[in-house]
Amino acid sequence: MNFALGAVVLCLAGTLAWSTWQRHLARQWLDRLAHSVRRYARGEDRRLAVDVPPPDLVPLSLALDDLVKALGEEASGMRSELRLEQEMVRQTPNGLVLVDAEGRVRMVNPAARVLLPVRGDPTGRPPIDTIPLSELQDVIDECREKNVIAERSVVYGPRDLVVRGLPLDGGRAALGVVLDITTVRAAERARRDFVSNVSHELRTPITSIVGFAEALGDEPLPDSSKPMVDAILRNARRLHALVDDVLHLSRIESRGEDLACDTQALRPLVDEVMERVRPRAESLRHALAVEGPDVEASVNADAFVHALNNLVDNAVKYTPEGGHITVRLSAVNNGVEVSVVDDGPGIDPVHHPRLFERFYRVDPGRSRDVGGTGLGLALVKHLCHAMRAEVGVRSAPGEGSTFTLRLRP
Ligand code: ADP
Repeated sequence: MNFALGAVVLCLAGTLAWSTWQRHLARQWLDRLAHSVRRYARGEDRRLAVDVPPPDLVPLSLALDDLVKALGEEASGMRSELRLEQEMVRQTPNGLVLVDAEGRVRMVNPAARVLLPVRGDPTGRPPIDTIPLSELQDVIDECREKNVIAERSVVYGPRDLVVRGLPLDGGRAALGVVLDITTVRAAERARRDFVSNVSHELRTPITSIVGFAEALGDEPLPDSSKPMVDAILRNARRLHALVDDVLHLSRIESRGEDLACDTQALRPLVDEVMERVRPRAESLRHALAVEGPDVEASVNADAFVHALNNLVDNAVKYTPEGGHITVRLSAVNNGVEVSVVDDGPGIDPVHHPRLFERFYRVDPGRSRDVGGTGLGLALVKHLCHAMRAEVGVRSAPGEGSTFTLRLRP
């Protein structure tokens, strides 16, 4: 009995000692593991350096191996992506200036150093300290203040640049992008000069054809010749109008963006336009009217008269005989509106987005019949932009058309 009891006690003591020893080994292994994980987390090791675990901890060890492998693969993927992105930033021909939430430069890529006058190391300083191009600082400030994309055109030395500020991180940080558009501008200039030279060269012979055709029309001609002379005169006048519109467009474009504007009473300018179109309107038995108060707006008188003339002229041309054409003046929030309202055929809204493009016509045959050049509304749009005004259209088939100029007060 005593022997049996002794054996049990011995057995229990042995088990206790064995399990204490095993716990000690596990604790030691876990300590080594914790140490290795910390080194891994600090980036001092690329893998977990632990020896064979006690049997109970083998599943944990295998799971950790898998985790480390997955993390390693993800990190190497991210590293190669980062390398590619850095390469892209280095190689792009566009200048990039990254500004952090404190408004200080974090990075300037090589293209920015070619395009901009970067002095020394700009890192950690406001852009203007080392890049003396106020437009860059302006777009960065504007896009960080308002959380919008800001843009300026700059001529810097021999280069035409576009400087753009893109808000990052909700407008706290910003990316300055510098585009070199020198060759694009040069090509545009060459195209404009060519068009303007050709138009100039065409003007004189066309004027003389119109003059001679008019003189011929006044002569007593055989009946068979009359339609031919009329056709020559009609087509020569169309050509004349087309060349005039092309010249006007290229003149507005070459003058650049802005036209000198001053505050003007609009009524006398509107009346001038109405008097110009009156003979044609009367020949079509249209009723012309002007409504609204004599408002003032900031306009360039010539440009305003030209734009309004094109709109009223279109209303007269496209409205069937006996129509009503009204110019309506009104003061609105932050500006003045001048609308040309007709009760003509109207324009399907599918055409509205393209209506102000050059040579876009809803009905090309009708436009040619009434002597249209396809450039009238494109000119209106350009003239408005040059006055920092806007033009819009409201129209639907059978409901007439309303073209509205929105002008600054
Ligand atoms: P066009 O010289 O052909 O009149 P525009 O640029 O002035 O060229 O106008 C473009 C097109 O818009 C015209 O061809 C015509 O189809 C349409 N349009 C312009 N104004 C009106 C209007 N008041 N009523 C109906 N259609 C119009």
